[in-house]
Amino acid sequence: MSYRVPFIDPREHYRRIKGEIDFAITDTLSKGDLVLRQQLRDFEQHLADFVGVKYAVGVNSCYHALHFSLLAAGVGPGDEVITVGHTFVATVSAIVHTGAKPVLVDVREDYNLDPDKFEDAVTPRTKAVIPVHLNGRVCEMDRIASIAEKRGIAVIEDAAQALGATFHGKGAGSFGLSGCFSFYPFKSLGGLGDGGAVTTNDPKIARFATLVRFNGEDRQTGEFHHHGYTALLDNVQAAVLGVKLHYLPKWIEHRRKIAGLYREGLEGIKSLRLPHFLGDEYFDSYQNYVIRTKQRNGLRQYLKDQGVETLVHWPKPMWEHTDLGLENPGLPETESICREVISLPMSAETTPEHVEIAVGCISDFFASHSAALRTASAD
Ligand SMILES: *Cc1c(COP(=O)(O)O)cnc(C)c1O
Repeated sequence: MSYRVPFIDPREHYRRIKGEIDFAITDTLSKGDLVLRQQLRDFEQHLADFVGVKYAVGVNSCYHALHFSLLAAGVGPGDEVITVGHTFVATVSAIVHTGAKPVLVDVREDYNLDPDKFEDAVTPRTKAVIPVHLNGRVCEMDRIASIAEKRGIAVIEDAAQALGATFHGKGAGSFGLSGCFSFYPFKSLGGLGDGGAVTTNDPKIARFATLVRFNGEDRQTGEFHHHGYTALLDNVQAAVLGVKLHYLPKWIEHRRKIAGLYREGLEGIKSLRLPHFLGDEYFDSYQNYVIRTKQRNGLRQYLKDQGVETLVHWPKPMWEHTDLGLENPGLPETESICREVISLPMSAETTPEHVEIAVGCISDFFASHSAALRTASAD
């Protein structure tokens, strides 16, 4: 079906910068630059500068960025890695595939790792922690980093949703041993398919990722140093991402403006919790605009009927996908978030008119819902 207000609009996204994208692709193809060429090196340098680190290494997904970062930190069988229960499954799969045990803890109101819960979960086996900067908001990295440092734990940031977000002026992906990014098409910096990067200030981590993404081979010497993987960021992708990176600051400003419009339109509705959290030290990039209500399922159906497309990240806790074989860690906040959240349309192409339509529908839903409740209680 076609929506009046799409969640995202990849065709419109392409249309607006088609000239530059098409040029980047044909230029790269005409030069025959397919693998590990200048376009990749240029993009990696620009990305590192943007994040505020020395090195960025392009890989084919955030999943691989996470997996390689964990391997680089020496994580393996017998170790524990702490992360949040409220994240995309890839964060946890990366841990599982190292042979380590994922230890899932609860999040705070802002959907991010609770530093106290992290500290409580530390054991002598804890080797790493993966704070996930969800929805474009950085975790409370000063506290997380100081707990980790005290206990000798590596910090690997899952920054898949937070490129361009900052905390005390420092970019997501620049706090830990490494930062892991995703260029999946529907992230704020989206490529033509899967893509990702590792960011780091540590030359050993950068070299490790550079080797293992390409079968463990040192391209200068031809020597194979690891049993590696086949996980490059393709050169054409890098060329396109390089074009888009120039637009990213403008796109983030746009997302913040759209978030502000949602706030103006929705803050009067008592049954809703909006994603505007305290703290001047945070600069949120609004990868997603997530609202919370006990009437989530009803609201979602109503919006769908009205032509407003929404998503739910995520409708059930990871451990309820029983084939994954994860223990139920008993995380009440994560469980209620799964029941209550709904992500509203949010992208660089979302317009004020889209917001007006969505806000109008949400207001109508709650107006008729509370009228129905009043009638019911008057009976
Ligand atoms: C998208 C996402 C990932 C995975 O990214 P891929 O590039 O698809 O591997 C990991 N963590 C979070 C929080 C994400 O949103």
